[in-house]
Amino acid sequence: MSNEFDTKKIHSGYEPKNFDYSATVPIFQSVAFDLGNTGRADQIVRGELPGAFMYSRVANPTVDIFEKRINALDGGVGAVAVASGMAAITYAILNVAEGGGRIIAPLDIYGASLDEFRTLLPKYNINFDFVENINDFDKIQELIRPDTKAIYVESVSNPITNIADISQLAKLAHKNKIPLIVDNTFPTPYLFNPIKFGADIIVYSSTKGISGHGNVVSGIIVDGGKFEWTKEKFPQFFEPELTLDKEGREDNSFVGVFGKRAFSAHLRTKYLRLMGAVLNPFAAYLGLLGLETLSERVNKEVLTALKIARYLEKNEHIEKIFHSGLLNTPQRDLVEKYYPNGIGTVFSFKLRGTVENIKKLLNGVKLFTYLPNVGDNRSLIVNPSGTTHREVPEDERKRQNISDNLIRLSIGLEDASDLIRDLEQAIKQAFKE
Ligand SMILES: *Cc1c(COP(=O)(O)O)cnc(C)c1O
Repeated sequence: MSNEFDTKKIHSGYEPKNFDYSATVPIFQSVAFDLGNTGRADQIVRGELPGAFMYSRVANPTVDIFEKRINALDGGVGAVAVASGMAAITYAILNVAEGGGRIIAPLDIYGASLDEFRTLLPKYNINFDFVENINDFDKIQELIRPDTKAIYVESVSNPITNIADISQLAKLAHKNKIPLIVDNTFPTPYLFNPIKFGADIIVYSSTKGISGHGNVVSGIIVDGGKFEWTKEKFPQFFEPELTLDKEGREDNSFVGVFGKRAFSAHLRTKYLRLMGAVLNPFAAYLGLLGLETLSERVNKEVLTALKIARYLEKNEHIEKIFHSGLLNTPQRDLVEKYYPNGIGTVFSFKLRGTVENIKKLLNGVKLFTYLPNVGDNRSLIVNPSGTTHREVPEDERKRQNISDNLIRLSIGLEDASDLIRDLEQAIKQAFKE
């Protein structure tokens, strides 16, 4: 039986009868699990006993259910939860470009991702070719070289909400025998399913909309399972792996043993197990709790965000709105194709004013909270150029529309009328002589 989204978000991955009939998912704080006997121990270490656990850095029952649930929502073949969204991005990139290589990515991405791609991963021999417009397919094709290992995109970009054309990008990637990695944090699995449109690896900061309550840092990687890994470009999945040795087994590589799940199995065994940015069971529990109301929260927030954007469009102090879900945006066709339920709860606008006006606006809000997070039940406001995107060089910020008069909003569950009133009074305040 294949259930629909809202049923899956409550039930997938959990069998109460296996957990003393506990109606909700229990928190397993245990570090380690009794191996029973030596025969069972051998099977567990080789990953041959599904549902058996050994040590919580590798897998834990509560975390496992969180992984299975997100995997079910995205339609993947396996998911690996990690300690943060940045850990998810880092492990996905290291896993795909192990030993070095090149990756193509747009410039308008999360500030810490861009900083990592520009300044840190190149020191590990993973270099990035950046494009200004991720839907410039000719430019991307031009940039692909023999050692290019993947295309990386954000489905809805932060903070300008540019929409990536995932089907076309997947086609382009596959034509060149490389996978498409998508950071799907902004839409969450509810608003967009990248795997359905051909993406191969999905990463999330589940700190954001997935958990939704601003109370847990966490991340997750979902393996789409359809990409054909080749030995020439991705030898890491074809090398003999000691931990997978078994009498009578000829091919002990990740592809040999795990087949379609090679990417996620390799990521768990080599990166989670050895580098250790593991998600703790209580964090997984909070993620599961948040997931139970994902669509209900996001539906309301999408509507409220549109109401606020429409209000701001008419405000004389607003220079420009960046919300791809509005009717008159250039990406209307992509929004209709990919986002029938809305693009998300985050959007930005430029204030027609000086840095002084911006400061007054940020200091004047009473209901909005001034902080660098998104996807919380509380509505949030921030100036990206001074906070989330501070590490992006100024000239690049300008090209990406992240000017000093840009304000980003993340809309929560309060009443739209109260949020609009709050912005109205804060904008008035900002321009008072
Ligand atoms: C927040 C965020 C991240 C990083 O996630 P953390 O959980 O804070 O490490 C990555 N990508 C996007 C789009 C984000 O919004």
